[in-house]
Amino acid sequence: MPIRLYDTLSREKRVFKPQDPSRVTMYVCGPTVYNRAHIGNFRPVIVFDTLFRLLRHTYGEEAVIYARNVTDIEDKIIAASQETGESIEAITKKYAAIYDADAAAVNALPPTIIPWATEHVGEMLSMIEALERKGYAYATEAGVFFNVPQMADYGRLSKRSLEDNQAGARVDVDLGKRDPADFALWKFAKEGEPEDAIWDSKWGRGRPGWHIECSAMAAKHLGKTIDIHGGGIDLQFPHHENEIAQSECAHGQTMANYWMHNGFLDMAGEKMSKSLGNVVLLNDLLNDWDGEVIRFAMLSGHYRAPLDWTGDLLGQAKATLNRIYGALRRVWDAEGGVAADKGVREALSDDLNTPIALAELSRLAGAANGAADRKDEAGMAEAKADLLAAGRLLGLLTKSPAEWEQGGDSDENAQIDALVAARIQARADKNWAEADRIRDELAARGIEIMDSASGATWRRV
Ligand code: AMP
Ligand code: ZN
Repeated sequence: MPIRLYDTLSREKRVFKPQDPSRVTMYVCGPTVYNRAHIGNFRPVIVFDTLFRLLRHTYGEEAVIYARNVTDIEDKIIAASQETGESIEAITKKYAAIYDADAAAVNALPPTIIPWATEHVGEMLSMIEALERKGYAYATEAGVFFNVPQMADYGRLSKRSLEDNQAGARVDVDLGKRDPADFALWKFAKEGEPEDAIWDSKWGRGRPGWHIECSAMAAKHLGKTIDIHGGGIDLQFPHHENEIAQSECAHGQTMANYWMHNGFLDMAGEKMSKSLGNVVLLNDLLNDWDGEVIRFAMLSGHYRAPLDWTGDLLGQAKATLNRIYGALRRVWDAEGGVAADKGVREALSDDLNTPIALAELSRLAGAANGAADRKDEAGMAEAKADLLAAGRLLGLLTKSPAEWEQGGDSDENAQIDALVAARIQARADKNWAEADRIRDELAARGIEIMDSASGATWRRV
């Protein structure tokens, strides 16, 4: 069954043909880590995780290499460091860890590679040098810039002409740009900027521009031409356009064969964004909703269309998942079934049609109920296998029906186990203050520890 994907560059759905089926490559622009990400930021995470799952299923788990970067150097990170007095490393490590935990809570598999920008400054500088050598880059008082008019076909992805790019922009005298559309490859350090935000270069001390980060990291980890490049639709211009300009001018070959962009997550018809102040944090939602409910709600719309985020959406997702888990419970003890249904895979293979895939999942739940009503053991076993196989592709049904119905999830239980173990260690170290603190923390979560000669057990109270 061929996979068809909508390619933003050619503006058409095309059959997906990887360059090498034993090494399928996908790069997705990742977070800038200086604060907690909002639920809109997790739309690309969930959408491209679903594609990652489909590709792994199709080409083999080891055959798909998915890189999602961490942008850990940027003006907003420097500002956060200056404001809080914390080091850049402390800030970025903290928010990257929160991001990873949030992504895991919505069942996003860890990407194969998570490259951090500050660990690739050498590669970025080599790329800027190559661009300079070929006549695409020039230095000014403010930094090193990419000269857009040098690239004859700049603007193919966003279908903007050079005039479009120049209109509204102006030649910034301070930056010394030759053309309004030119963009920074390297920014010289300004007075008073922290040392941990500054690197040496042959042009002067400073830091990389945002776009060159992705160009350099994608090439290093996935190759000069990658199969799929993804991100939110707001990244199409200027970020992805500039990635193409840098990579194709430096390497002389196509950067990506398929460009994929998710639509916006909206609140009351407006893009969810920090600047509009209408953000909902995934971290907060997880207090009230299971991660699978959030994932289901996110996948209920097609990834290219805008999705309006409402409480109703979550309520409906929860009710549907309750019904599906209820059906799964009825066939749970049936063993030995082999998954045969291809409905979910077919829907996902058609440009990730998740609304149809979720409808197929409900249909499979209906089949499970039917088999259970008829006491058809073979049918029950097959329905169970079909549901779990479909769930694996969608990142859903990762719990047992009992876990789902108790509400306690295995991640939380593992967390509690870890805290109980940490308390046992603290007591062994005679660190009574820490032991008491952990006991209080658990008590606040409704967990009681029962000490015994051989260790400790816990229960919910
Ligand atoms: P940012 O931190 O703004 O660079 O965004 C990180 C990722 O989230 C990018 O791929 C953005 O395109 C995407 N993104 C940001 N806001 C939204 C939104 N409201 N809906 C969908 N995707 C978004
Ligand atoms: Zn990028």
